[in-house]
Amino acid sequence: VKDNGRNFYEFFEANMNEYASERLMLENNLRRALAKEEFVLFYQPQVDSKTETLIGVEALIRWIRPNSEIVPPGDFIPILEETGLIIPIGEWVLAEACRQHKEWIRKGLPPIPISVNISAIQFQEKGFLPMLSNIIKESGIEPGYLDLELTESVVMRQPEFVIKQLEFIKEMGINLSLDDFGTGFSSLSYLRYFPLDRLKIDQSFVRRLSTDSVNEAIIEAVVALGKSLKIKTIAEGVETKQELDFLRKLECDEIQGYYFSEPLPSDAFIRWFTSR
Ligand code: C2E
Ligand code: CA
Ligand code: CA
Ligand code: CA
Repeated sequence: VKDNGRNFYEFFEANMNEYASERLMLENNLRRALAKEEFVLFYQPQVDSKTETLIGVEALIRWIRPNSEIVPPGDFIPILEETGLIIPIGEWVLAEACRQHKEWIRKGLPPIPISVNISAIQFQEKGFLPMLSNIIKESGIEPGYLDLELTESVVMRQPEFVIKQLEFIKEMGINLSLDDFGTGFSSLSYLRYFPLDRLKIDQSFVRRLSTDSVNEAIIEAVVALGKSLKIKTIAEGVETKQELDFLRKLECDEIQGYYFSEPLPSDAFIRWFTSR
């Protein structure tokens, strides 16, 4: 028994070391990735639920490794957040999204509203607002075409600080969306104090919409809430015509999901847009 115990401990320790060194390697690679410009943004269309015309795009980060492997954000955003690397990389995302918006205009496209995900750590960092206004100025983007997506966890942590910060952002003319709505524990009574433009209904409610009447009731309730607070609603993760029809019936304003398009690199997005 004693032997087994020791073996287990040695096994455990060896694995922990392996895990720790893999983590360290990944962290170093992510640090290098920013300098070597290995990050890219993909863009996923958002459309009006009635007319199906484009109303904007969401910028979603990808890491393209030197071996061409595309790493999804779920695999590295948590590490960026733990290490603080989300601050410089989040800044890069904002600047790149604004640059891209202006480049599309130069290429003859109409100005396309662009949504950028902001993580809690980034939002709470002291330099966030100056950084944001700098990027607006330097890129020349009309602030009304920029939308920041924040999750409930950001908004609920320190309501007073957050409300001030959000009001400042609104005064700059930037739009605000509450992401993954319904998955957190936001107090609905607080919602009215946040200057929000849009609620993003989480994918988990859209999935199995046609077979799960509870999800249908939840979406209906969120849309009604949005209407009374004069906030738009957008459903994400829409994959089928059936889901689209349900959401139309429930009077959800906007749609995002594979049914219309996956997130696309800039060139492919331009082709998608011009071929419609
Ligand atoms: P999110 O903000 O909720 O983004 C929506 C995710 O759902 C994206 O995954 C998108 O590709 C995926 N999606 C969209 N439509 C469909 C659909 O019809 N079906 C399915 N199955 N999935 C769909 P992605 O790009 O892997 O991003 C995952 C998460 O990573 C994002 O979730 C967001 O929280 C985070 N993220 C992505 N880019 C950034 C960024 O630049 N900064 C920060 N802080 N977070 C980011
Ligand atoms: Ca988002
Ligand atoms: Ca979301
Ligand atoms: Ca999400």
